[in-house]
Amino acid sequence: MRNTKIIATLGPATDSPEILGNMIDRGMNIARLNMSHATHDWVRRVVKDIRELAKVRGASIGILLDTQGPAIRTGDLVQAFDLKPGEKFTFTVRGEKDVEERSVDVNYDNLVNDIGVGDVVLLDNGAIEMKVLQKFANKIECEVLTPGRLGSRRHINLPGVKVSLPALTAKDLRDVALGLELGVDYIALSFTREAKDIRQLKAIVESAKNRPLIIAKLEDQQAVQNLKEIICEADGIMVARGDLGIEIPYEELPIVQRRAVKMCLRLGRPVIIATHMLESMIQNPMPTRAEITDVANAVYEQADAIMLSGETTVGKYPLKCLDVFDKISQRIERSGGANFQEHAELTNPRQKMVKSAVVMADELRADAILVFTLTGRLARYAAWMRPRYSPIYAICDTQQLADSMTLNWGIRPVVVPFDHNNRERTISLTIAKLVETGLLKKGNTAVVISSLDVDGQSVKAVQMRDI
Ligand code: PEP
Repeated sequence: MRNTKIIATLGPATDSPEILGNMIDRGMNIARLNMSHATHDWVRRVVKDIRELAKVRGASIGILLDTQGPAIRTGDLVQAFDLKPGEKFTFTVRGEKDVEERSVDVNYDNLVNDIGVGDVVLLDNGAIEMKVLQKFANKIECEVLTPGRLGSRRHINLPGVKVSLPALTAKDLRDVALGLELGVDYIALSFTREAKDIRQLKAIVESAKNRPLIIAKLEDQQAVQNLKEIICEADGIMVARGDLGIEIPYEELPIVQRRAVKMCLRLGRPVIIATHMLESMIQNPMPTRAEITDVANAVYEQADAIMLSGETTVGKYPLKCLDVFDKISQRIERSGGANFQEHAELTNPRQKMVKSAVVMADELRADAILVFTLTGRLARYAAWMRPRYSPIYAICDTQQLADSMTLNWGIRPVVVPFDHNNRERTISLTIAKLVETGLLKKGNTAVVISSLDVDGQSVKAVQMRDI
C-alpha cells in the first residue's frame, strides 16, 4: 500500500516485454516516453506492449509522452573540442561557415537576438560554462570559463535569457499527433514558460476522443516567475530538476521545489518531482544516503509522484530502483507528511463536499474511501485532500479513465461496469468485488462518495458504510 506514485522512463535498459511486466509488478504506475530520444516506431511498439501487459494483470498504468520542447543544441562536429578557461569560442547561426577554427553551429537562428553581451552560456547540462564577449550578425563570440570536452549535438542552457522559440516545435507537433493517435494518458510540455503555452497545446488535444492531461514542466526562470498561472492552467506540474537546476542558481532549487509542491497542493494540481533521484543507481546497486533523503523529502512533502529517468533508461538496476522508491515511500508515508493541503483553496461546493468526506474518513480512521466517478473529478479532489489513513478507490467504468488517475496521490483505480439505472446496485457490486479481491473485509468501515437516486432525482451523497 503506497500513496506516492512512481513514474519510470523507458529506454534501452527496460526494452523488453519481460522487463516491462516486471516493472508493473514492482509498482511502476506510469511509463514515461522521452521524445528527445524515442522514435515513433518504438513508441508504437512500447505503448502496445504496456497496454497488453497491464490488461493481463488487471493493472491501471498511465502512459506519459514527454515532448522535447524548444531545446537549443549545438550542431555536428567533425571532432570534439577540448576547451580551456580563457580561450575564445564562437557559436554560429543559419549554417554560417565560420572561418574561426573553434566554432560550432547552433540549431536556433534567433539566438543572436535573444542573447546579450555578458550572458552565460552553459553546455552539456551545465558541464561547460562560457560568457558572451561580442555579438555579430551571424555569430556570438564567447570566453570559456570552465573547461570541458565539447562533442556534437550538446544541450545549451541560457540562464535568465528570454528565448523567443515557439512553445511547440514542428517535431513536438508530430510527437503530440502520435500521442493522440495512440491514446496516451498524459503529455508533458517541456520548457513551459507561461500559461499561454499550455493553452496552445490544449487547443490541439481538445478534440481528441480521450483528451490527454497536460503536465507542464517547470524548467527555467520564466516558468518560476509565472508559476501560479502555469499551475492554474495545467492539469499537473513536473518539477524538472535537471534543466531547472542549471537554469536557476542551484541553491534556489530546493526552495523552488518546495514552493511548487506547496502551490500545487494549495490549488489542487498533481505534482511530480523528477530527475537525479537515484542517479548513482545508474551504476550502483545501492542509493547514496543523500539520494535516500532526497526521495524521502519528496514523499514527506506528499508530492503525487516521484520519477526515474536515466536510472531506468540506461541504468544497470532499473528494477531495483523501483524497489528502492517503493520501500522509501512506504516507510516515510507511515511516519506522516507535511500536510500542505491544509491550505487548499476550495472554490466549489463539490470540493467542499469531498473535503467533508475526507475529514469524516480521517475521524473514523476508515479502511477505504470509495469514490464513484464518471470523469475522475471527485476522485482527484479526494486525492488532493490527502486522507491520513484511508486508501482512495476510484471506481470508474472505463480503463481509459482509470489510467488517467494513475498520477494522483493515493488513488487506486477500480474498473467496474456501472448500472446507470440502479446506482445502489453498482455500489453493492463494487463492495462485493473489493471484498472478493481482499481489498476490503467484513468489519471494515468505508466512506462512500457517489450519486444516489432519491425520489427519481440524482443527489451527491457521502455515506458511512460498514462492510
Ligand atoms: C529535467 O530536465 O529534469 C527533465 C525531466 O526533462 P528532460 O529529461 O526532458 O530533459
